[in-house]
Amino acid sequence: MKKHNVGIIGAGVAGLALAYRLIKLGHEVTLYEKNKFAGGQLYSFPIEGENTEIYYHHTFMSDENFISLCNELGIENKLQWFDSSMAYYSNGKQFPFGTPLDLLRFTPLKFMDKIKFGISIFHLQSIKNIHLVESFSAKEWFYEKGYSNVWDVIWEPLFKLKFAELADEISLVWLWDKLIKRGKSRNSGKEKLCYMEGSFFELALALEKEIISSGGTILTNTGIEKIHKEDGVFILNTSNMKRFEHDSVVSTLSTKHHQDIFKTEPSHLQKYDYQSAICALLVLNKPFSQFYWTNVGDYALPFGGIIEHTNFVGKEKYAGKTILYLSKYLDKKSAFYQKSNDEILNDFYLGLEKVNEQFERKSILDAYVFKQPDAQPIVKKGYNPPQIKTEITNLYWISTHHVYPHDRGIEYGIELANKVADYINE
Ligand SMILES: Cc1cc2nc3c(=O)[nH]c(=O)nc-3n(C[C@H](O)[C@H](O)[C@H](O)COP(=O)(O)OP(=O)(O)OC[C@H]3O[C@@H](n4cnc5c(N)ncnc54)[C@H](O)[C@@H]3O)c2cc1C
Repeated sequence: MKKHNVGIIGAGVAGLALAYRLIKLGHEVTLYEKNKFAGGQLYSFPIEGENTEIYYHHTFMSDENFISLCNELGIENKLQWFDSSMAYYSNGKQFPFGTPLDLLRFTPLKFMDKIKFGISIFHLQSIKNIHLVESFSAKEWFYEKGYSNVWDVIWEPLFKLKFAELADEISLVWLWDKLIKRGKSRNSGKEKLCYMEGSFFELALALEKEIISSGGTILTNTGIEKIHKEDGVFILNTSNMKRFEHDSVVSTLSTKHHQDIFKTEPSHLQKYDYQSAICALLVLNKPFSQFYWTNVGDYALPFGGIIEHTNFVGKEKYAGKTILYLSKYLDKKSAFYQKSNDEILNDFYLGLEKVNEQFERKSILDAYVFKQPDAQPIVKKGYNPPQIKTEITNLYWISTHHVYPHDRGIEYGIELANKVADYINE
């Protein structure tokens, strides 16, 4: 077997999992990361001594690649399974939204539409062939199959809050895959979700440790600025004016970053775009609600999700404090994205006051705002993912735009890493 000297760009979960896999297969690996830490979007920091993600995270029972990697790394004992509690915010109220009984009590939908909602979920989950969903936008499908009120009341507000004016064009595949995944993460009728003790950053730390102890190199604070190929060898120029050579290169960068450094890539990549995310993390001295996850279906609120982390993992490890995330997806060119953190928090607090009249700003002990420009790949009807094997021999590319028909997630970063490791090893 030929031993390759591989350069991997980006040390998020995809880059780390790939480096780990290639080293196990006997290849030489250097990982380049522009930040001062590896882990990418899994980055966490201590709150009350407990590492906590800057972006809320959970995984699912069907995340086989993730679970199997944790087993290999010997960190499976850190996987904790909890019941999720879901709500839907509509007409000024948080409605429980996790069971058939909750659906019956959900007043924004008329009785017949509640039945149709249940049938539409069952209908979508029972479709096995992706070709039967690919030709529809989500809205088209709900309208064509006679579930138009279900779309208008439930899905349209959620799609609009996630994809804004692109909502009507989003592929049905995006929703279909999510519903199937959630359906598989149920046990005895209850949804079970996974959290990692010490945060999902533990996965990054465990991978980092294995990579280094097996002879791999991780260069942090080392952004790649330019790459070109000379006589079959890739030359990588870094932000700290260094130059490295590799016979194979894998980029794990989001499309924009990938394009920035591979000036040779064709312009058709411009069609691969993202919604950006603003995520506020609040530490409160008392609970905000009784739910883990509230989808917001109300345009009057400045955020699309209320995620009460401590209603999922418990508040004991946070000394009784509440950890609350608020998420908003939007275009990074929008005026809201450009607002200062104080302005964003002020708008979010006004939103929290609408949801819960008892909420008082004095209950906020700490507040942080994080922005992720390339958070959510936009998958419109007729989407075709970019190629993993690029037009340049021995240059591979994996990103959240490649995970189609799935949506972004830890599981799929690992799955793509496994796939590329096999390609290189061949
Ligand atoms: C708000 C939010 C909530 C989420 N919730 C969940 C969830 O509940 N469950 C789940 O499974 N997933 C969730 N995700 C998605 C998950 O975090 C991502 O899919 C995953 O972390 C992406 O990993 P990655 O390695 O592909 O990319 P990244 O983590 O983005 O890694 C890319 C790395 O490349 C580096 N880089 C960029 N440019 C350069 C350069 N020029 N040179 C060198 N390095 C460079 C970056 O610094 C970064 O570290 C969430 C994401 C967000 C934003």
